[in-house]
Amino acid sequence: MKTITLPDGREITYELTRKRVRNINFRAKENGVVAVSANSRVSVREIEEFLIQRAEFFFKAFERLKKRAEESGLSETIAPNAQSVRWLGQDFPVRVIPNSRECAVIDENEVRVFTRRGDEAEYVTALIKTARERRFRALCGELDSEVRGELEKRGFSPPPTVITIKDMKSRWGSCSYTRGHISLNIRLAAYPRSTVLSVLWHEYAHYWHHDHSERFYAFLLEMFPEYRKWNNLLKNNF
Ligand SMILES: [Zn+2]
Repeated sequence: MKTITLPDGREITYELTRKRVRNINFRAKENGVVAVSANSRVSVREIEEFLIQRAEFFFKAFERLKKRAEESGLSETIAPNAQSVRWLGQDFPVRVIPNSRECAVIDENEVRVFTRRGDEAEYVTALIKTARERRFRALCGELDSEVRGELEKRGFSPPPTVITIKDMKSRWGSCSYTRGHISLNIRLAAYPRSTVLSVLWHEYAHYWHHDHSERFYAFLLEMFPEYRKWNNLLKNNF
């Protein structure tokens, strides 16, 4: 392989193969190298002049190849500014995959962002935020069934309840027991699943005990014995 430098400083790398071809054949390759085949009568100087004259053509071809490689998902990057995402108590690395889907997916061990705008940190963050909220909403639905199932098993009948996900500044959850409405803080998505569950149990317990009395905690610990272990992770976080 040989590299020639153009007057403007750009470089072209080529790989010459001598072949019984008519004159010169060339092909821009995905790795940014021009494959040249020429017969033995064509001098290196002629070949290099030929490449310099057609430099623009090759640069454009390399661009096209690079774009095509990106579209097929071959070239991936770690998001420049999104670093990692905290999800259910773990840090998930963010992988940006050039693709026109424009969405993010929280996988088992990473967050995959499919976008053509991977270099726009704010945009990538917004895609991740949407995915995280969607997943958290689904998780809360799951946990809600778990709590209600347990309550019913023990002979309690919880009122019909609407769960709302909100970004709250000073509380992890709230319960309007008269309206059958429980709110959970989206910030809980950073904590382990059982911690989210502890908050949901806390709010459900308010249907039977409106204050934070001893009876309230006795009920709560009876229902979810690991309450303190998981809920304590939230102390001093506001
Ligand atoms: Zn409370």
